[in-house]
Amino acid sequence: MVVDGYFILAGLLATVIGLLAAACLARGDASRGRRRCGRCWYDMSRVSGLRCPECGWEARHEIHLFRTRRRWRWIGASVLLSAAGVVLVVTGAVGWPQMVPAAVWRAVMPHLDPGAERELATIGLDSTLKIGRMSRWERLRFAHRCALVLDGAACSTSRSGRAVQQALLGLLSLTSEARIALPSVERVFRGGSASADEREFSLLVMMDNQSLARSAALAEQVAMEDPDADVRHTAVRHLLWRGKKRREIVPVLTRLLRAGDPQVRHDAAAGLGEFGAMATAALGELDRVAASDPDPEVRDRALGAAILIRADAEARAARRRGDGR
Ligand SMILES: [Zn+2]
Repeated sequence: MVVDGYFILAGLLATVIGLLAAACLARGDASRGRRRCGRCWYDMSRVSGLRCPECGWEARHEIHLFRTRRRWRWIGASVLLSAAGVVLVVTGAVGWPQMVPAAVWRAVMPHLDPGAERELATIGLDSTLKIGRMSRWERLRFAHRCALVLDGAACSTSRSGRAVQQALLGLLSLTSEARIALPSVERVFRGGSASADEREFSLLVMMDNQSLARSAALAEQVAMEDPDADVRHTAVRHLLWRGKKRREIVPVLTRLLRAGDPQVRHDAAAGLGEFGAMATAALGELDRVAASDPDPEVRDRALGAAILIRADAEARAARRRGDGR
């Protein structure tokens, strides 16, 4: 956090200095009546003719000897400086690990952290507990080591379930740094040999570190297809938690009303109810579920959600009429 503050401050300084310098340099050194060579700026006031005795440059017209001198390289450098300042400010604001693509981190980390392969055993609950006190760099290194554990698990037959779980838990306790391990997490998740716990943890890591749209698509797929009930329910509940009051997950929840798992349909209906008037588009599907779902609890929940949504929509319409008067 402190580091990010310095990034922003340095970035603002660089931007301002760069822009001021560019502005001054762009005004340039006007001729003010001096005859000068347009290439080497030799004073040609005592020279007759258009050819510079110093460098041999020849002006095509007299007027070309009265040009304003501008140092384009310096102007370019100033513009670059202010652009770099903008990058620094953005970096400070979003956090610098986000500015570097995950693929770059993964390519660079083995060189920055050569001991990682040997020290893989050091990933344990103790490191998970220490995450709060780690610097950004230590967290990045930790995320990289977790990725190495997961890569080993994804490609070797002698996988250690405990190490995989701890690596996934470690990534869950990290914030943005977990992003550099996402490809490894995804391999474990889709590898086919992952246990239900491993799928659940890796699902959470992926959902926490992706855009809401991608998280929602993933959660929908898992809630529809995963063979394990706990994993399916975690997917829906985490989606509801991440997508609180976010309109874009309404269609996802609406589709989940057709899931095979009654608990998924139940949670989706309950979730839609919390959206109130924002979920008006789901009313038709909720009415269908309330009337014909084979599970009585799901029917109840859908009915309750539909009532909440209609009540909220009516209250809003009444408020609008009140405002109109
Ligand atoms: Zn010249």
